[in-house]
Amino acid sequence: MKFNSSSQVEMLAKIKTHPYQATSFYLNTDKSQQSRKAINAAYKTLLNQARMALEKADLSKEQKKSLLDDLEKIAQFCTLKLNSWKAPGLALFSCSGQNFWQELELPHGPRNRIVQDFDFYTRPLAAILEKYKKTCVFLINRKKAVWYEVFLGEIKLLDTLESNVPKQVKKGGFEGYEAKKIERHIEAMLLEHFKKAASRTFEILKQNNFNWLLVGCDNQYYPQIEEHFHTYVRNKLAGRLKARPDTEPSKILKECLEIEDKLKKKEDEEFVKNFISELESGGRAVSGLADTLRRLNSFEVQAILVTHNFSKPGKVCPGCHRLFLNEEVCPNCKMKTEEVADVVDEALELAMGRNIPVYQITPPSRLDHYGNIGAFLKFKPKE
Ligand SMILES: [Zn+2]
Repeated sequence: MKFNSSSQVEMLAKIKTHPYQATSFYLNTDKSQQSRKAINAAYKTLLNQARMALEKADLSKEQKKSLLDDLEKIAQFCTLKLNSWKAPGLALFSCSGQNFWQELELPHGPRNRIVQDFDFYTRPLAAILEKYKKTCVFLINRKKAVWYEVFLGEIKLLDTLESNVPKQVKKGGFEGYEAKKIERHIEAMLLEHFKKAASRTFEILKQNNFNWLLVGCDNQYYPQIEEHFHTYVRNKLAGRLKARPDTEPSKILKECLEIEDKLKKKEDEEFVKNFISELESGGRAVSGLADTLRRLNSFEVQAILVTHNFSKPGKVCPGCHRLFLNEEVCPNCKMKTEEVADVVDEALELAMGRNIPVYQITPPSRLDHYGNIGAFLKFKPKE
């Protein structure tokens, strides 16, 4: 099943697996970023780690069996389906004790991880929903207007409007007073068509909570259409498309995704630029993993930006749950720290749990030169 709505997250979050535990499995299957061999190696490593953790886990025999069965089912799924898996990301949710199994195709590669816990781990899904922009595509010509929604890499027709404005009067085809009258009449009908379409665009944008609006129409009509846009609509305007009302949806989608990529890139650059200027002017920002973790530990972080899929092993204190890059002993409670495979992921999870916004930056970006992670702080750092 394709992952494409928040109701899927809510459904998973509601499922009660008690008295058994739940297994959530996320795998980056993006073949444009990595080889098949690397993907296969990654899932095997995850499953092995989970098996080892289960051996030590303090659970009843039935609970353990259910979790082991989950791992077995996931292994089988990967062996059979992974080579032909087309989506860039895979998520599997299993609770064998309750006979629950669900697979989701993700629109981009998540961080590889497996979580066995009291309930399903859905934060990465929520993060995907947040990352993706919802775009409204509005295409118009003299006769017709169409509206599409583009979200999570899919396109959906929302509405169409047909206005049957007659063809333009050819120059020299008519002469005299009558011709002028007809021409004016057609002009008025065309204007009415544009007006109607512009106000429908406003309604559609309001109803569906879009981030961006892309418009496809001939240059000669654009000023007349834009003129009728409500301020709300203007504020969502993000660009123009080559597509027209009769363009194939698959082509519209392709063009739209290319533009979205560019827009997202621009937004990222802007965000990183602000971060770097805050950092270099000695303002409320820190960079690098060690400092970001330190500020997170002391509740000073306001927002995090991180290179997408950046990961590093690190340490966690079993007592106070503070995160470190390489402290052997927690400076706070003097307990011996434990290894974690990906301390970046732990940090992001902690941040999301505290409602701290996390901005995933697509590499390459200038953030790469600042340790791939940084934070905006609530206060100016004193040291
Ligand atoms: Zn501690």
